[in-house]
Order: sequence, then structure tokens, then C-alpha cells
Amino acid sequence: MRAEIVLPDGRSRCARCSKWAVDRQVDVGAVVRTVRPLLHSYGIRLPNQVRVELVEPGILRAGTGEGFVGETVVEQRRLRGVSGVQSIKVVSGMPATRFGHVVAHEMGHGWLTRCPGDRSLTTEEGICELIGSWWLRHRGGRLAAYYLEQMWQNPDPVYGDGYRSVCRKLGSLSPGEVVRRVETTGRL
Ligand SMILES: [Zn+2]
Repeated sequence: MRAEIVLPDGRSRCARCSKWAVDRQVDVGAVVRTVRPLLHSYGIRLPNQVRVELVEPGILRAGTGEGFVGETVVEQRRLRGVSGVQSIKVVSGMPATRFGHVVAHEMGHGWLTRCPGDRSLTTEEGICELIGSWWLRHRGGRLAAYYLEQMWQNPDPVYGDGYRSVCRKLGSLSPGEVVRRVETTGRL
């Protein structure tokens, strides 16, 4: 039997996940330092530096009932109409593997502000899920494999369909090739 730990908000977590969970703001840096260089190596850069902020569960888009775990707020700057990233918020209490996946996904939104073109929500989320999958593959291990399978099976019409559609179109390309294509054409 696995040892379960019950969190203050009622969620439970196995002891193994708890050991590597991101519960406090001071835990954030260690994971971000493994995500950011990987994305940089593929050519993914945000338009500006932004701190990944840890927030309590239930705060992000509260009331939508969707249980969002990450959020990126983009600002349209007045000067030259250039977009910037105002904030990246990720929910606390997740295992480091899942936390890194969400950070990679949200950094994808930040990077896409630099890419031209009008993309549908499904395409945008599909690209960000693909970026999250690159980090999970890099991370490796059983938990990463579990999240990869969950993404692939996700019945959600935006996140699940978007990811599968992007994989079908870009699956044969390397991450660097995907990044160059989206940056230059804005499309898949
Ligand atoms: Zn997203």
C-alpha cells in the first residue's frame, strides 16, 4: 500500500510525490532552472524575464469549474505594440514533474507572443501542450510517462484535441524545427 499524505486543502498525495512537491515559492527555482535551459536549447525565449509565481489551488480562473493549474497573463505594451508577459502563475502542491510540465506549457504561451499570426485557441493550447511534452520526455521516469499518456488520452476538445492535432502535423519534426517554423510562419 502506498503511503498517502493529506494536504491542508483536502487533496491527497503519495509520500514519494510529496518528497519532490513544489509547495513553497522557494521550491520553484529548482524546477524552473531545469525547464528554462531546455526550452532555450530549442530556441524558445520569452519576450521579457518573468518570475514564476506559486498560487494556492482554486484561485486561477475561479468559478469556471475547470480546475486550472497554470495561467500566463500577456500585456500589450503601448510602445511599438510589442507584447510582453506580465505574469506566470502555477498552482502549489503538485509533484515537481507535473509542476515543470505546467511551467513549460505556460512559458510556451509567453514565447508565442513573439510569434506572428492569429491562432485558434485549440492550436495555441496544442502547441503549448507539445512544449510541455518535450519537458516530460526530457525529465523521464514513470510519472512523466503517466502524464504523457494522460495528455494523449485527454478528452478535452481544446487541450486534448489540440495536442493530438499538433502532434499529427508536427510529430516528425524536431523541437528546434517546430520552433523555427512557428516563429517564422506563425503556423504549423
Ligand atoms: Zn495553456
